[in-house]
Amino acid sequence: MKNRLLFLGPPGAGKGTQAARLSASHGMKHLSTGDLLRSEVAAGSDLGKEAEAVMNTGELVSDTLVLAIVKAQLGSLDGGGWLLDGFPRTVVQAEALAPLLDSLKQPLEAVVLLELDDAVLIERMLARGRADDTEDVIRHRLEVYREKTAPLIDYYRQQGLLLSVEAQGSVEAITERIEQALQGS
Ligand code: AMP
Repeated sequence: MKNRLLFLGPPGAGKGTQAARLSASHGMKHLSTGDLLRSEVAAGSDLGKEAEAVMNTGELVSDTLVLAIVKAQLGSLDGGGWLLDGFPRTVVQAEALAPLLDSLKQPLEAVVLLELDDAVLIERMLARGRADDTEDVIRHRLEVYREKTAPLIDYYRQQGLLLSVEAQGSVEAITERIEQALQGS
């Protein structure tokens, strides 16, 4: 099975949940920029303070800040496989990631796109009740996704890496679909 992966999709599509399940069952390292940023916020670091204000509006944290965090983590990626969740979120980040992975001799093998209707996304995000999950912020995060992150769908499709998965249904059913997509390609 392919095990150097990236999860792409709108906020609320279940990237974090599915990434955690897949990485646990296959021993892959799970790297979530959202989780890394939330730990910085919880630790009260300068970086966390800068990130928190932006995260609470639903905007993206700057590429420079996110890339600094990711670069510090990439050294720990090993041959056991890994899964990037919530990164890259812009074309600038994707273009910075490729040479970093090349230099580690661990190129990306597949991009899993989780697809889901807006109505279900909004319902799911309201249900999880995170600090940045109020209705206005959620709508803004969806707009930001469409404008800044959705262009990555074509970017990775053109590289022949994209696997689309319908993210509707039970958590287990979606995991099964992802596994099948990764086996079959
Ligand atoms: P997530 O947990 O992936 O939904 O991320 C929560 C928030 O963290 C996002 O709404 C952004 O403000 C910020 N964030 C996470 N990952 C990135 C990234 N790759 N680039 C910019 N901002 C990010």
